[in-house]
Amino acid sequence: MKNHLDKEKFVPLKDIGVKIHLWEPRQNYLIWGAGINASKIYLKFKKFSKLKNLIGFFDNSKKPIQKFYGKTIFDKKSLNETLKKKKKILIVKSIPFLSNSTFLNYLDDKIKSNCDISFIPISFFYRPEAIVELTNAPLMQYELGSDEYLSFEDAMERINFVEKNYPDIFNIDLSGSKDPFENPNLTKILKKLDKFTFITLHTNINNENNLKKINQLAKIKKSIQIVIIINEINLKYNPVSLNTIKKYISKISKIRKINIFLRIRYDNYNLFPKLKKNVFKYCLNKVRIIEALGYINSYENILNFITKKKWIDKKSEIESKLIPWRLKDYIRKSQFHKHKPCLCQRIFPVINFNGNINVCHLYDKTNIVSFSKTLSKKKLIRNRYNSNLCRKCQKFALHRLDIDILNR
Ligand code: SF4
Repeated sequence: MKNHLDKEKFVPLKDIGVKIHLWEPRQNYLIWGAGINASKIYLKFKKFSKLKNLIGFFDNSKKPIQKFYGKTIFDKKSLNETLKKKKKILIVKSIPFLSNSTFLNYLDDKIKSNCDISFIPISFFYRPEAIVELTNAPLMQYELGSDEYLSFEDAMERINFVEKNYPDIFNIDLSGSKDPFENPNLTKILKKLDKFTFITLHTNINNENNLKKINQLAKIKKSIQIVIIINEINLKYNPVSLNTIKKYISKISKIRKINIFLRIRYDNYNLFPKLKKNVFKYCLNKVRIIEALGYINSYENILNFITKKKWIDKKSEIESKLIPWRLKDYIRKSQFHKHKPCLCQRIFPVINFNGNINVCHLYDKTNIVSFSKTLSKKKLIRNRYNSNLCRKCQKFALHRLDIDILNR
């Protein structure tokens, strides 16, 4: 039966970009950047044996001639030395927000006139990412006593499904409604992962055990990003002193560079100056602080607010008042982008703790099919395409409700 919402303009969800295993680098190339994105690109190039012509990485903020995955990270001086001998070079940009001319400004005029330089942005590649939930926090009384941690076997079955069906997978986010660090199988799971799979783990710093564990996990798997979530409310109820945070963050930063995401809301922005002053300044060369605006969790609540003109419950109403941007203004702005593709379609599949596969990570209750090890990718994609939710979501342009993009 035809979906009645098909009459509305619908931008189909589809894979975008060149699949890395089909890409042939016919000339020498350099990866611009030596951070998380560069790491993801490198792992996939290595998996599909595309490293023959890679001359190294470029990051002018690094000390000269450091190594990244055993390859040289050039700074401005060493890059100019190397490019002097090249006639042609392709730059794979892992830093999406820097322009090509920024790179060209690092080069001597002679090189610019003698060497044929071309660029490929990271968005050129197909970069699927997936979410596999490892934990569950029962919310309702009747759910108490239900499982809170995914078993090792179930976790591996789901992760293997993703790795097999999405060989180009750029990142798997191991998350859950409870802190994934609390899953007792986490270490075992990380040890079993494909070495070419990049992993992101979210945790919070209001638990000293989690802070201790970061050090152990960072040693087990090299290609891992640990995102630390800071929430003043949690810290208030589960106090960990700034000194304890400082102790662990400086230890972790000795092992690897870490990203700390500060999701800014009206109830936590007071905390950031304190953290910056007391904690981060001691390990700034290894800690990257990313400040981002807070969002309303679960777009179902927004959809409900738009259609019924009221918040579904008190919690969503309170949350809506904590975000530091005006929802109505941005919903209006996103209408102008309605015809453009969905911004989060790259992150798929999203496998919930209870084995439901969601159409995307923005909505909680969007089961399109239940996970089973015999599930085919074809069925997964078909169900996703037929999701009524996508049509409803696009009707109100919520598929483009991304503050950073709308502010550009
Ligand atoms: S529900 Fe909306 S945001 Fe999610 S995948 Fe569908 S169109 Fe994109």
